[in-house]
Amino acid sequence: MTDMVSAERRSQIMARIRSTDTTPEMTVRRLLHRMGYRFRLHVRDLPGRPDIVLPKYKTAILVHGCFWHGHRCKDGRRPKSNMGYWNGKLDRNKNRDKINKQRLRRAGWKPVVIWACQCTEEDRLMDIIRNALDE
Ligand SMILES: [Zn+2]
Repeated sequence: MTDMVSAERRSQIMARIRSTDTTPEMTVRRLLHRMGYRFRLHVRDLPGRPDIVLPKYKTAILVHGCFWHGHRCKDGRRPKSNMGYWNGKLDRNKNRDKINKQRLRRAGWKPVVIWACQCTEEDRLMDIIRNALDE
């Protein structure tokens, strides 16, 4: 009986692990790796702790969720209810992103935003990465 419960728990845990593997950030990381780029993750000593950093290219890749970071796409639409709350929260996120990008530039880094909705097609994503790195 206990075994069954733990097996169920385990499958829940595994399901969660699998789902984190398919996040947009993981997609970008896998692709960069396959393209042969070397990178570091979540670099603490850079403004905003960028998701992915390519030291050789002095480039910081910020993988942004469309909703939380306010992309102008259908996933970035703001909720119609509780608007005061959401507008305040999402405006603060956008503002923070803007400041982090400015700070990165000032520190000599090129910030590149990749939106979650751009991570669904690999060919397109590869183009975005190559353009960002001037390759
Ligand atoms: Zn989007």
